[in-house]
Amino acid sequence: MEYRSYNVKSFVKHPLVATHLSPEEIEDIRVVAQVFPFKVNNYVIEELIDWEHYHDDPIFRLTFPHKQMLEAEDFQRVKEAMANPQELAQVVESIRLKLNPHPAGQLHNVPEIGGRKLEGSQHKYKETILFFPKQGQTCHAYCSFCFRWPQFVGMDELKFASKEVELLIEYIQAHPEITDVLFTGGDPLIMSTRLLRAYIEPLLAARIPHLRNIRIGTKTLGFWPYRFTRDKDADDLLRLFEEIRKAGYHLAFMAHFNHYRELLTPAVREAVERIRSTGAIIRTQSPILRHINDSAEVWARMWKEQVALDMIPYYMFVARDTGAQHYFGVPLARAWEIYRDAISQVSGLARTVRGPSMSATPGKIAVVGVSQVGDQQVFVLNMLQAKNPDLVDRPFFAKYNPEALWIDELEPALSEKFIFE
Ligand SMILES: *Cc1c(COP(=O)(O)O)cnc(C)c1O
Ligand code: SF4
Repeated sequence: MEYRSYNVKSFVKHPLVATHLSPEEIEDIRVVAQVFPFKVNNYVIEELIDWEHYHDDPIFRLTFPHKQMLEAEDFQRVKEAMANPQELAQVVESIRLKLNPHPAGQLHNVPEIGGRKLEGSQHKYKETILFFPKQGQTCHAYCSFCFRWPQFVGMDELKFASKEVELLIEYIQAHPEITDVLFTGGDPLIMSTRLLRAYIEPLLAARIPHLRNIRIGTKTLGFWPYRFTRDKDADDLLRLFEEIRKAGYHLAFMAHFNHYRELLTPAVREAVERIRSTGAIIRTQSPILRHINDSAEVWARMWKEQVALDMIPYYMFVARDTGAQHYFGVPLARAWEIYRDAISQVSGLARTVRGPSMSATPGKIAVVGVSQVGDQQVFVLNMLQAKNPDLVDRPFFAKYNPEALWIDELEPALSEKFIFE
């Protein structure tokens, strides 16, 4: 299948969109897409979305912006400003600023080596360095809950890649505690195999003894499985995966799936099989999102399908405190109920998934459950990852609050402070 991408200007040109959406719905999408990035492709439109029931379709909601993602008043402001580009830019900017575009921990932890900054990296937890290849900061389609703006780059890409990776290698060499490098984005698999090689081959060639695991965080299996099957450089990508394995690394393919429906097409099944044949291990993760996957049945079925396809369920995340959190957010108490209900429906093979977890400034905090200590109702929380490794796997308590969406809305219980304070 030929890759065809659609944005706010072109989406109505797709016949399935044009024949199903009303003029009013199209107008609403145009308004909301001024604030939130919108991009979709022919695979998502033709093979994932069920157009007969698109209103409640989880993939439609995952990729097409919705009127309610903006507060009614903001929606009106954008709509009225649409005729005047200058005013529109101002209105959009002011709304974006309200939406906490740089949530906790995103801009911190920029590592340095020899006085030079690794701008495209983040080293928050001891063992793992995150690397954001500049050309991987976009995606095959955009999730409506995500607040990342695509960054376009007009530079000599290969030269840029090799400079960046040189610094990354130097940094890892100087840090024997690092065992994992995680390529992330956006989506690093938006890059051509040739470009990806420019990052990965020098890393393999450096033979850093303490580096053991190469991770690739990607949504491509969900949004464009042909990347691994029929794209021109699909075979070469699989060869690159094999080379990583042959060089002695564990290749952890961290796949982002939001709904079991993304696991059912022949294309995704073939892609998974091909990736697995290289020796890569696929682990899965997703945030829990209202309107998309806030039901135990959806999660239980998703994990079962994943295990059936040889994937390992890994993380359930809580939606970040950014963007349209008022629309997608699920309270921590409800997220835990869904998690528990779903976990209890699957065998131990799918209970590898941890969550619901918040990636917050002090670390990854999981909601272990709701409990009673004396006469006080509490959340039991646990640090799955922490900036300070001494805090890892130390449960702690917060006062029960059925509405809280994020750690900053919780108060410590049975102690003055949270353990990370
Ligand atoms: C989740 C995460 C990691 C990896 O944590 P694991 O539990 O080892 O998967 C590394 N860095 C950051 C910033 C993370 O959010
Ligand atoms: S694939 Fe990931 S980075 Fe891209 S839009 Fe979706 S959540 Fe955001």
